[in-house]
Amino acid sequence: MVAVSDEEGEPMKTEIVEGWPQGHEIRILITETDAAQVNAIRRALISDVPKLAITRVDFSQGVTQDNKGDVVESVNVLPDEVLAHRLAMIPIPTPADEGLVFPEDCDNCRDVVEKDKGCPMCQVLYTLSARGPSADSEDGFRTVYAGDITTISDPVYDINEEHKQIPLTILAPGQFLEFYAFAVLGRGRDHAKWSPAAAVGFRPQRRAVLHKPKKASILFDLGLTTSEGTKIDAKLFGKDKVVTNINHVMDLENALHQVGEGTGRSEEFADAITLETVANAYVFTFETDGSLDPVTAFNSALNELNSRFVDLSEDIKSALA
Ligand SMILES: [Zn+2]
Repeated sequence: MVAVSDEEGEPMKTEIVEGWPQGHEIRILITETDAAQVNAIRRALISDVPKLAITRVDFSQGVTQDNKGDVVESVNVLPDEVLAHRLAMIPIPTPADEGLVFPEDCDNCRDVVEKDKGCPMCQVLYTLSARGPSADSEDGFRTVYAGDITTISDPVYDINEEHKQIPLTILAPGQFLEFYAFAVLGRGRDHAKWSPAAAVGFRPQRRAVLHKPKKASILFDLGLTTSEGTKIDAKLFGKDKVVTNINHVMDLENALHQVGEGTGRSEEFADAITLETVANAYVFTFETDGSLDPVTAFNSALNELNSRFVDLSEDIKSALA
């Protein structure tokens, strides 16, 4: 891992590709670097960037009677362990500036016994109370969603709007579900529930060069467009006959599959357009689960690397603005 430091070269540079982030997805151009260094960032993003996840659930258990005399029981189709796992996988918003600390670093909790660990400095508290449809209802069951969870701690930790539709379980008449859930900071290397990013990948930066406009018409005549809707034709290549726009090059890479090996068009196309690799430059792509925005997650990955490898500190000081 020490090899990720490139002491000879220029410090690594990072830049968000135009048009990104889109939702939780981002493309970042990383230059003055090599594959080992970019891969170290990839691994840090998956395994080292801290985020919140539910790690303990206290279920209420038993049979009770409500004020109308209906008897409800704490059972449902899923075992508690399965439900706890589903809760763990719900993305928990992790704002960077709230000052939460890891339970093992918490001044209040470090030296207390396991069962007393947990305080407002190191954990976020949620609760849920739901019951199945009443006996006279026409519904056979009720679905319980992540949106039914209430934050007892600060509302900044409320489950994101987009995640409220995640189903947890179903309750039949006479069943209830009640629990307290505790979220703490953790890292993906300890459990996937603490991993903030998915689909993390990178590829060398490339540029597309138009060599033979006539033969390229086999591709252009297919009427394909870039992801934002620009026609893929000779005009896209401009006077220089080169496409450098990273988004367009990635679209072209996909489009070229239409004239590649096995399409019956490759011979006629005859490499009319080729992709050339740009030295020491990579396009880094990933998506967060929504607990962190992608820029925060990326900067946090650089910080994690920085804190662990003194050698790297020079190389990775160019965090995204
Ligand atoms: Zn604590």
